[in-house]
Amino acid sequence: MSQHEFQARSEFIPGVVVPEGTNGAANWLLFLNDKPVIIGGDVKNPIPYFDKPARMGLKVLKHFYLGQFRGEACYGASLDPLSDLPVEYVTSELKTLLVRLPQSWFQLWGMAQQILTWDRNHQYCGACGHHTQFHPTERAKVCHDCGLVNYPRLSPCIITLVTHEDKLLLGRSANFIPSLYSTLAGFIEPGETVEEAVHREVKEEVGVELGSLEYVKSQPWPFPHSLMLGFIAEYHQGEIHLTDDELEDAQWWPIDKLPLIPPRGTISRSLIEFHIGRYRKRAEQAV
Ligand SMILES: [Zn+2]
Repeated sequence: MSQHEFQARSEFIPGVVVPEGTNGAANWLLFLNDKPVIIGGDVKNPIPYFDKPARMGLKVLKHFYLGQFRGEACYGASLDPLSDLPVEYVTSELKTLLVRLPQSWFQLWGMAQQILTWDRNHQYCGACGHHTQFHPTERAKVCHDCGLVNYPRLSPCIITLVTHEDKLLLGRSANFIPSLYSTLAGFIEPGETVEEAVHREVKEEVGVELGSLEYVKSQPWPFPHSLMLGFIAEYHQGEIHLTDDELEDAQWWPIDKLPLIPPRGTISRSLIEFHIGRYRKRAEQAV
């Protein structure tokens, strides 16, 4: 991210309908009791790869096609809670995969989890109460009684690194692990622009006003269905004042004396590292 890189997703082609001629082994993004099932041990690619779940002794409750990753089919599936897993398979946490896997693989797991959750929560039509069914060619669930169509739910959020000279404004919520401080985040309200949400959230959470904003990058955040839009903002005015219950502390931190920050793989970490790298480079050039 030396310059802003708004990249196309080149390795993955999403799809709803399995392309003709697709058969044989595929990547299976399995979930047991809502937890990802991976191949345990120190393996390079922990994603189960086989042709038929039954041949692995797995009982699939529901499965759906996700698309093709590096030319190979990918399916998401929920397993019967009573399934016995092959000995090398273990359950994991989606958040663990975020820091363990390359982003493109994590995005696939996140996609599978979001579709499973959306399917489970939209079994019935919200308007008339009848059963819904998958649309044959689109990622949608349809009520054939009243015609209502539901698409997978996404909840856009802003996440903002507030900066001032060589300092970063980081806050901590009471449910963070001890000593961890992070950038500020919040959901976008109906009727609000993304930029307005950045100004409002920061003002609500820490009481300061912002100057200019810079959009940097985004990250799907499937916990359970957010999409993080990452900004770097310049401080304008005001003292830190915790005005709602979201944070238990917020402070200005010099860039060479940061507290514990979120792990690699998170957009928060990436915004912090991007800003510090650029700040130091500019400082060097100014000498
Ligand atoms: Zn309906």
